[in-house]
Amino acid sequence: MTLFEKIIAREIPADIIYEDEHCLAFNDISHQAPTHFLVIPKKVIPRIGEAEASDQELLGHLLLTVGAIAREQGFADTEAAGFRVIMNHGKAGGETVPHLHIHVLAGRPLQWPPG
Ligand code: AMP
Repeated sequence: MTLFEKIIAREIPADIIYEDEHCLAFNDISHQAPTHFLVIPKKVIPRIGEAEASDQELLGHLLLTVGAIAREQGFADTEAAGFRVIMNHGKAGGETVPHLHIHVLAGRPLQWPPG
């Protein structure tokens, strides 16, 4: 069982901010910005490069959920705010948990290019 499956199953506590049939969103335990949450599918896909055509609807749902939470939290006002969406794949990409997750960071100016 992945760490994130344990969070889905409530075996490990997390600060959950959204849940539906297909996904869960919770605040990152080691936040890299004032707002930093993760959106994960309940279905285990290890990482984005291993997603399949049959995951198309689920992946779209995850991104729409990111947008909905960002709007709700006030980060989607393009002029006054903004946010960043990140997915890490593999060792060189900075992945540490083998359960697909979308990072969403906001609440401070975000530099480009990223590190
Ligand atoms: P990544 O490095 O892209 O695989 O991202 C994994 C993220 O999961 C990191 O930002 C961690 O801080 C976060 N994380 C690890 N354990 C927990 C936890 N128990 N609750 C919330 N976030 C976690």
